[in-house]
Amino acid sequence: MTEVRPSRWGLTGATVPTWQAGTLAPWACDPARSRGRRHPEPEAPTRNAFQRDRDRVIHSTAFRRLVYKTQVFLNHEGDLFRTRLTHSLEVAQLGRSIARALGLHEDLVEAIALAHDLGHTPFGHAGQDALNACLHEDDGPWAAEPRGPNEPHGGFEHNLQSLRVVDELEERYPAFDGLNLCLETREGILKHCSRANAAWLEQREPDGVGARFLRGESPSLEAQLANVADEIAYNAHDIDDGVRSGLLTLEQLEQVELFDHFRRAALAEHPHLRGRRLLYESIRRMLSAQVYDVIDATRRALQQAGVGTLQEVRAHPPLLGFSPAMREASSQLKRFLLVNLYRHPQVMDTTARARQVVADLYRAYCADPARLPAPCRRAGLSLRRQVADYIAGMTDRYAIREHERLTGQRLFG
Ligand code: MG
Repeated sequence: MTEVRPSRWGLTGATVPTWQAGTLAPWACDPARSRGRRHPEPEAPTRNAFQRDRDRVIHSTAFRRLVYKTQVFLNHEGDLFRTRLTHSLEVAQLGRSIARALGLHEDLVEAIALAHDLGHTPFGHAGQDALNACLHEDDGPWAAEPRGPNEPHGGFEHNLQSLRVVDELEERYPAFDGLNLCLETREGILKHCSRANAAWLEQREPDGVGARFLRGESPSLEAQLANVADEIAYNAHDIDDGVRSGLLTLEQLEQVELFDHFRRAALAEHPHLRGRRLLYESIRRMLSAQVYDVIDATRRALQQAGVGTLQEVRAHPPLLGFSPAMREASSQLKRFLLVNLYRHPQVMDTTARARQVVADLYRAYCADPARLPAPCRRAGLSLRRQVADYIAGMTDRYAIREHERLTGQRLFG
């Protein structure tokens, strides 16, 4: 086991990352030792395998669609709100910063971060919940059709859908479906997976992305990092967008211990700061503190666990994350956003209409499969799964237009 030497890793307990840029830690994923692609391909002459994955994600159709997909606010509600695309870019930025300090592979974290939301439906979580409910419905003649061999079990899981986008649904290469990404990138995209679907994946690809769920292993630290960077990003930008929309106020945010701590710190240094600049400065300080907290807590956890290799990382429960105090503070912020923003009557009203659009579209295509464009009719999938794939790929505005065309109803102005 490689000993973690404090001088080398900068384990000072201080919040200053002292990583020598460009050096990989022994617990990082190394593209030269990647577990490979499903369809073997020659190496690229100038790019490592994870860089290449990142580039494939950026050039994908699903990635471009993220610009018109909801994060919290619908795309047309305002030009400055986060979309799934800008959210993914923020996750990638935070991920890279932390990766560099921990000696993790930056390109891999970036590839995972940019791809992590590719499977999201239009209208964010409302769309996903509606599509999941539709797939579980047992009315309609289409509901009796058996599951196809290329089809996952159960309803709609957005993590699994993101994996299906990069594995099957993108159509760009002559010899295979999907983007043919490395196992390390795909494992990071598949953050959660039901046991039934893990077994289904394992059957199709032995010792592949499903295996760790069956064996109870952890993913790489790069995958763990993309997950934490996602949480840091949405907590911060949902505060910003919440205030911008007028649904949250700075006064209300004083209830949030973490935010208020940094608001007071900003005011102590700049007593005349008000409004938007006070908001930005408080968020900026909060983001930095969370980034440094993850770096410090993870360095300590790696040292305490005596973990020195990637194999040991996989065998150990997750090691990358917040300190207990920051975990609690972040959870309080999440609870605040749930009650005051995600369940705000104005957001809930949009959510209800979004659910109706998705449910109506699902029934319209299932009732008349001829309405599905030809490329959506894939072999080995039941009709309801083909319909779900088609709807999941839609942008908010395409779904709204298509709903209007098929039902004659106008649910969004
Ligand atoms: Mg996300």
